[in-house]
Amino acid sequence: MYRLSDLNSCHCTDCQIISGWPCRTGVAAKAENISIKGVVAEYTKVAESGRKRVLGFCDTCGTGLYGADAEKNNFAIRLGFLNQRDDLVPIKHIYRNSAASWLKGIEQH
Ligand SMILES: [Zn+2]
Repeated sequence: MYRLSDLNSCHCTDCQIISGWPCRTGVAAKAENISIKGVVAEYTKVAESGRKRVLGFCDTCGTGLYGADAEKNNFAIRLGFLNQRDDLVPIKHIYRNSAASWLKGIEQH
């Protein structure tokens, strides 16, 4: 089991709505350290602040693959589709103030 400092779960309402679950977990990765094969559908989410976030999905099944900054330099690879998802433990929980009330034992970072 691994605990990576760049592995976090986000409990913001956007992540809850987009993921269909109370949080969304991603592994931070620089563009130069990943390779993407196949067709990826993308949707650009624009926050109230104007900040853009590119969301990548499998073009065939809709599985969430990543979120990235508008320039696609910094990615958050979605934990759910990684084979190592049971071995990678999120060390940070962000936007804990909007976390589901029934989700207990999560420390704020
Ligand atoms: Zn979020």
